[in-house]
Amino acid sequence: MIIILKDGAEQEQINSLVQNITNRGLTVHESIGSQSHILGVIGDTSRVDTQTIINLECVSDVKRVSEPYKAVNRKFHPEDTIVEVSGRKIGEGYFNMIAGPCSVESEEQIIEVARRVKASGASMLRGGAYKPRTSPYAFQGLKQEGIKLLLAAKKETGLPIVTELTNIMNLKYFDDVDVIQVGARNMQNFDMLYELGHSNKPILLKRGLSSTIEEWLMSAEYIMSGGNQNVILCERGIRTYETATRNTFDISAVPILKRLSHLPIIVDPSHATGKTWLVKPLVRAAIGAGCDGAMIEVHNNPSCALCDGAQSITPDTFDTIMQDVKKRIEFEGKILVWKLALLGLD
Ligand code: PEP
Ligand code: MN
Repeated sequence: MIIILKDGAEQEQINSLVQNITNRGLTVHESIGSQSHILGVIGDTSRVDTQTIINLECVSDVKRVSEPYKAVNRKFHPEDTIVEVSGRKIGEGYFNMIAGPCSVESEEQIIEVARRVKASGASMLRGGAYKPRTSPYAFQGLKQEGIKLLLAAKKETGLPIVTELTNIMNLKYFDDVDVIQVGARNMQNFDMLYELGHSNKPILLKRGLSSTIEEWLMSAEYIMSGGNQNVILCERGIRTYETATRNTFDISAVPILKRLSHLPIIVDPSHATGKTWLVKPLVRAAIGAGCDGAMIEVHNNPSCALCDGAQSITPDTFDTIMQDVKKRIEFEGKILVWKLALLGLD
């Protein structure tokens, strides 16, 4: 339930309303935006009489929310959320390119890729240390050693690191990781989401292999309802009957999520398509659709990659894509030429 307060509502009346609601065992989430002052009521509101509340002097309107997600819902939080990652921002036009190999393979590999993508303008380094592989015989990642190598690359380049947690038991090794990725296969690992909700690390939550947008948002809700507000959503394609690409890139997820939620949304065209040549056009499309960034697999020698070589671009190709992206955004943070483009000014 959402209670919209009147402009200039008396604080005393608001306090008494909040008290009244919390006495019923419900939680109130207050959001004061530049345009609106809203109370989001979380919990079972079925026994709350909206008419009684609407009659209060400080209240302008009351709406029941039909969506099952509250904390991620834009209705409760009209302003875009900006997630801070080790001094960098993402969301509301703060645009980030996250790049790096599918898996960390060696110190030379990760440091070389980190240096190259940083020089091209990437703002974070990705790399899998714990890899969720379909085959038990495939390379499973360097695990703890992989995290150490990512930290070495971070030390060398200053790039914050993004890496996937596949089992909550390993969270203890992620203390110095800047962004914890929850991969597609774990999007509905609710025990993991619950635990991450009680950490304060930024979480990159990928869309599940065949998840609906609502299921995805409910997973974000698990994290946020635990107290961790630092969630970034990542569209990485979903499974459909189409076989021309590894997955089907759901470009419409970007504007839909912008409408439904205040969380930052980035895209992963590498896993979405499985093809190097599709990375550039899909990054362009995603910028046009309003995303806050992209995560791209870059390998110094894709043909020898231990994982996902077919979709990994070289540092040189990444550089040309960055040149293209830079034309579309005003880098170091601010909004973007794509907004002008949407207005027909570009
Ligand atoms: C990855 O980022 O390397 C990965 C395994 O991604 P996804 O969970 O989207 O398949
Ligand atoms: Mn991969």
